[in-house]
Amino acid sequence: MTSPLLLGCIADDFTGATDLANNLVRAGMRVVQTIGVPPEPVAGVDAVVVALKSRTIPAPEAVAQSLHALTWLREQGCRQFYFKVCSTFDSTPLGNIGPVAEALMDALGAAICCVTPAFPENARTVYKGYLFVGDVLLSESGMRNHPLTPMTDASLVRVMQAQSRGKVGLVEHKVVRGGAAPIHARIRQLQDEGHRFAVVDALDNEDLMHLGRAIADMPLVVAGSGVAIGLPQNHGIRPSFAAAELPPAQGARAVVSGSCSEATNRQVNDFIGRGLPALAIDPFEIAAGRDVVGQALAWAAPLLGEQPVLVYSSAPPEAVRGVQERLGAGDAGAMVERALAAIALGLVERGVGQLVVAGGETSGAAVQALGVRQLRIGPQIDPGVPWCHARAEACGRSVHLALKSGNFGTADFFTKAFR
Ligand code: ADP
Repeated sequence: MTSPLLLGCIADDFTGATDLANNLVRAGMRVVQTIGVPPEPVAGVDAVVVALKSRTIPAPEAVAQSLHALTWLREQGCRQFYFKVCSTFDSTPLGNIGPVAEALMDALGAAICCVTPAFPENARTVYKGYLFVGDVLLSESGMRNHPLTPMTDASLVRVMQAQSRGKVGLVEHKVVRGGAAPIHARIRQLQDEGHRFAVVDALDNEDLMHLGRAIADMPLVVAGSGVAIGLPQNHGIRPSFAAAELPPAQGARAVVSGSCSEATNRQVNDFIGRGLPALAIDPFEIAAGRDVVGQALAWAAPLLGEQPVLVYSSAPPEAVRGVQERLGAGDAGAMVERALAAIALGLVERGVGQLVVAGGETSGAAVQALGVRQLRIGPQIDPGVPWCHARAEACGRSVHLALKSGNFGTADFFTKAFR
């Protein structure tokens, strides 16, 4: 007998989905992450996270995609739903958090829902409805200059109100620290007063555990990945190693890196400094029409097996600027992503069974090239980056994947991951 699916999650971007899945696994749930709505059903897990790419698309499209995911999750038997948004609440007065949340609530018949991006372990806290990133208000953090979703107001009540039809209220920390019962009572009070959203303060994991218990009977929560730690307890689920268990790792080990973040450049240098085999990909060679993919695979093939190999386009900021000035940032990015994704697929076809991919966009491209539709989430390597196990439909093989977004991971990540 398979156990019922307890939690259905819709994430507005890919690495955010993994972050949420990782937190659920750490709290004891068995989790599958899907890339969009998959054609096949999911079974044998406690929660499913559907990864969309809906954070910055037009609001009506984000609503349509999210409702499609909700319909599928209900068909799978999920009873409670989680709309995962960014822990910096990335959005504009046009959405997409408000419009998507209201559409999901209407579909579920939910009278009120909680909203909190708090993730204290990651230094995101909410106090009196104001979101702090580390020691500063959201509006004083780097997010104020974000190219697509500049966050210039730290008041989540105001930000949420600007993009919602329903009224937005606040559950203050003095209520939250009192525990689940007062939180529940306050939410119902807000509902009676005509509110549709309750922004909830949270400063530490204990607050999130209280909140988790308080919302056990609510069909929808809108949150960052933090709230996830408080939900498994409602089903008698406790943290366990079993939740993170994957089939044994097999095959050669490789790293493909297209992230140019500071952290990734450190990781590339650390790998090379250990004397391990590494090959740099030159964007100008790709632009000149050379068979960079074929060359990289020919280089890697005889090396596979003994030790991990690294293929990277990662470069320091000056070099990236040089490439972008000559090739255009968008074109260069897309071209490099395509090449690295083809290399990832070629490596798996040649026997790589354990693959680390560095870079959010690069990971998206690699997963697409591999034909991965579902990822079973395993143990965490570093905060926010778990090992996953997936079927690569493009080549009919199973593979262990670690998809690392740019800034994550310690300097030795590319070797530590394989230990
Ligand atoms: P991160 O998670 O660090 O943001 P991404 O993979 O999301 O990493 O984004 C990195 C982008 O930079 C990708 O589009 C990638 O193709 C591009 N890129 C990688 N290497 C280079 C390079 N040497 N020059 C210019 N662009 C590059």
